[in-house]
Amino acid sequence: MENLTVLGSTGSIGQSTLDVVRRNRDLFCVYALGAGSNAERMISDCIEFNPAYAVLQQESAAEKVRTELKNHPEIRTEVLSGSDALNSIASAGECDSVMAAIVGSAGLVSALAAVKSGKKLYLANKESLIMTGHLFIDAARKSNSQILPVDSEHNAIFQSLPESEQHRIGFCDLEKAGISHVLLTGSGGPFRECPLEQLESVTPAQALAHPTWSMGPKITVDSSTMMNKGFEFIEAKWLFNLANSQIKVLVHPQSVVHSMVQYVDGSVIAELGNPDMRTPIARVMAYPNRITSGVEPMDFVKLSGLTFMEPDYNRYPCLKLAIDSCWSGQAATTALNAANEVAVYAFLNGRIAYLDIYRVCADTVARFDSDSIADVDSVLDLHSRAEVFASQLVSRILR
Ligand code: NDP
Repeated sequence: MENLTVLGSTGSIGQSTLDVVRRNRDLFCVYALGAGSNAERMISDCIEFNPAYAVLQQESAAEKVRTELKNHPEIRTEVLSGSDALNSIASAGECDSVMAAIVGSAGLVSALAAVKSGKKLYLANKESLIMTGHLFIDAARKSNSQILPVDSEHNAIFQSLPESEQHRIGFCDLEKAGISHVLLTGSGGPFRECPLEQLESVTPAQALAHPTWSMGPKITVDSSTMMNKGFEFIEAKWLFNLANSQIKVLVHPQSVVHSMVQYVDGSVIAELGNPDMRTPIARVMAYPNRITSGVEPMDFVKLSGLTFMEPDYNRYPCLKLAIDSCWSGQAATTALNAANEVAVYAFLNGRIAYLDIYRVCADTVARFDSDSIADVDSVLDLHSRAEVFASQLVSRILR
């Protein structure tokens, strides 16, 4: 029985993780749940899973959970709040594995706490690697923490690698393994065919209508700009130790092929399936075995076709910016992540236009990309300064 902590339990990945647990009660026990402020969802999950701990970032939400759970004396959950408590449930001795699924930069420190204490880490939070890259990978190596990628593209690449490389996440040698490159696929989002001149007037509701995947709001907007693919590009670089020539991005509107690995002999190994995050979640949780996830089996006969094309950087300037930032260095990717968080939420709140997301990100990266980063504290410091800078840009743009 594996004792699992789920960070970001009230979100889209967190709920899919709990659904996989629900279907495999004989294998997993929920040790702790961690989230931000959604007290209602936390109460119902505590009643269902009876974890030892429930942590909410916001104390007022934690108090609400405490009060409600008093009406359920059979539930023994201790309810805590704040960042230190999130770090403790990620690193506690009783916990075997951690699902890191807090959204954004807020997820970094607790994911790092899990890695430093040698936990098996199911990594959904991509910002951890975007911000701390080699610091994160080095910490995992030092503590013997096993990182298993949850993001569907990275999970697909992971599944398509030879077993020897699956055990060397962060330190893969793809050339030695006979791999020429990895092919990262992305749907192209809801605006793949939208006339370019109409992008300026795109609304949050339109950006949130993803054609194939159901996800949280931040990542859904990131998918529409393909910033998400750019972030995945950076994440892939760190997970699979890739050089520039070893990675390509392909637009694949059907989202059936979740990514591929091309070998030097001409073979291509891909992972295919319905777009449902319970598949990669179940894959990492059961690794190296397989368990049921609740995902509908794919019906090939119903597939209308699989198409692939090169991304158009005029349509997706955020993708190009992220790829350039990836090779520019850790300061650029940290600044990009900070600016994008500020810009996406400003767009969702109606404060800036859709194309301003790119403008805010590009100006912020240009301002910070030559800063130096030595450790996690300097990353967090740069992130805060970049957030302030991006917020000032938003205020100047304010419509
Ligand atoms: P959601 O927005 O659905 O959920 C986010 C979770 O993070 C919620 O549980 C939220 O808690 C919690 N949270 C937010 N801020 C804080 C904070 N300051 N402290 C503690 N918890 C906090 O996001 P997703 O599930 O979509 O995504 C989670 C992560 O996984 C992201 O990094 C995303 O990029 C990545 N990912 C997501 C995929 C998907 O299909 N959804 C696919 C691949 C990767 P609350 O709601 O209670 O405030």
